[in-house]
Amino acid sequence: MSTSPSSIPPIHVIGGGLAGSEAAWQIAQAGVPVVLHEMRRDDTSGPVRTDAHQTDGLAEMVCSNSFRSDDWQFNAVGLLHAEMRKLGSLIMSAADQHQVPAGGALAVDRDGFSAEVTRRIAAHPLITIVREEVAGLPPAEWDNVVVATGPLTSPALADAILELSGEGQLSFFDAIAPIIHVESIDMDIAWRQSRYDKEGPGGDAAAYINCPMDKAQYEAFIDALLEGPKAEFKDWEHVPYFDGCLPIEVMAERGRETLRHGPMKPVGLTNPRDPTVKSYAIVQLRQDNALGTLWNMVGFQTKLKHGVQAEVFRMIPGLANAQFARLGGLHRNTFINSPRLLDRSLRMKVAPRLRFAGQMTGVEGYVESAATGLLAGRFAAAERLGRTLDAPPPTTALGALVDHVTGGHLEGGPEGKASFQPMNINYGLLPPLEAPKVDEHGVKIPLKERGRAKKRLMSLRALADLDGWMAG
Ligand SMILES: Cc1cc2nc3c(=O)[nH]c(=O)nc-3n(C[C@H](O)[C@H](O)[C@H](O)COP(=O)(O)OP(=O)(O)OC[C@H]3O[C@@H](n4cnc5c(N)ncnc54)[C@H](O)[C@@H]3O)c2cc1C
Repeated sequence: MSTSPSSIPPIHVIGGGLAGSEAAWQIAQAGVPVVLHEMRRDDTSGPVRTDAHQTDGLAEMVCSNSFRSDDWQFNAVGLLHAEMRKLGSLIMSAADQHQVPAGGALAVDRDGFSAEVTRRIAAHPLITIVREEVAGLPPAEWDNVVVATGPLTSPALADAILELSGEGQLSFFDAIAPIIHVESIDMDIAWRQSRYDKEGPGGDAAAYINCPMDKAQYEAFIDALLEGPKAEFKDWEHVPYFDGCLPIEVMAERGRETLRHGPMKPVGLTNPRDPTVKSYAIVQLRQDNALGTLWNMVGFQTKLKHGVQAEVFRMIPGLANAQFARLGGLHRNTFINSPRLLDRSLRMKVAPRLRFAGQMTGVEGYVESAATGLLAGRFAAAERLGRTLDAPPPTTALGALVDHVTGGHLEGGPEGKASFQPMNINYGLLPPLEAPKVDEHGVKIPLKERGRAKKRLMSLRALADLDGWMAG
């Protein structure tokens, strides 16, 4: 006997942005009633907005109008689009309906897109929209809640989450150091060693990749840092600079030698290629994910504009051909330390009635936020219906994102500091495959095209594995 939706208690979704709208849609499509709480509104007391949103529309895109590449074969975000379409994503469907010409990218008419999402949510018989701020922890009687309040979560709710999660487990801005695909690092120049060969808890005394600089290289690098154009903060976006996470160009402005005594200090490290030569400065990279495919530049958070970052960082010996999985940045953002706080179905371990989605979980970007909304919605609905639903396999883009935020990212360095920072989807989050040498017809693939061929194989594997998961 099937249960009628009217007898099923509702799931509450807080936040009607990219993630919350998708979560509400997925829950309702599973036959479970939803109450969607969104604080932005236009009523007699005047408009309520965040610092970045300009309308009261659901799923408002606050900046660019692009969902980035739509190429599922060779681009990880394109693959994520394809997976979400397979799962009946509202966000992808509305984006496809309102796309504007953008070459290989999926860009949309933002007003038409937001109006479409708002219309379809409002018209769904199982969704009720309530225009109110949830100003604190949700009432105890809300037993199944998706929190999707985004990078600009209202202070009252953010404070309550901070209190519940514990000191240091909620960040109010991100300080992002660039992340590099390990296979693009030149290990004929760089070498593996921990400072003073100190063993970590895992017994590894060669935990870091080290890139050495002589004096001339260091001076040229400092000049490039000081001269490079920096991204501006908006008034509301100003973030406090803590000494632990100063942007490198701000450190360089404090004195040309500052970096050499900070994140680029050359002590306790010996270049195995010539132990008699002392490096003038050393850039260190630390493993960022459990797969070992991604490495972050330690202490290299920066406000340099994205366009120049790759150019400046490729001046570092060993990184001339570096491929960046993520460039650095510093933004106002609200996100939790998900690897510590969330389980595999995005529930808060200390308060399992609360599930998180969107940018709050430490994913980055419109598509990734909607993707975690899609999964959180499905997990929440399955729980309400008394079913179990495992996360998709880590070989899929959706599964890789969940894996990353719930444990794939490695915590801190030897200092033990939490180092979780927001991340876009990229192939480095998926288990690697050998680059193929021949194509499906047995024809040899030229060396320079093997990287692309590998991405295609990983995408094909992802879609096949997602089909298997859906069938299960
Ligand atoms: C200034 C800025 C520019 C950005 N530019 C880009 C970009 O160009 N491309 C990109 O991919 N990503 C960009 N991002 C990141 C972007 O915010 C996210 O990718 C995406 O919007 C996050 O989706 P979300 O659903 O998690 O949050 P949001 O889309 O922000 O949705 C959260 C919703 O929760 C509501 N809310 C907050 N607190 C409460 C509360 N207590 N009660 C009820 N409702 C509440 C908010 O009003 C909002 O509608 C940008 C972020 C910012 C802040």
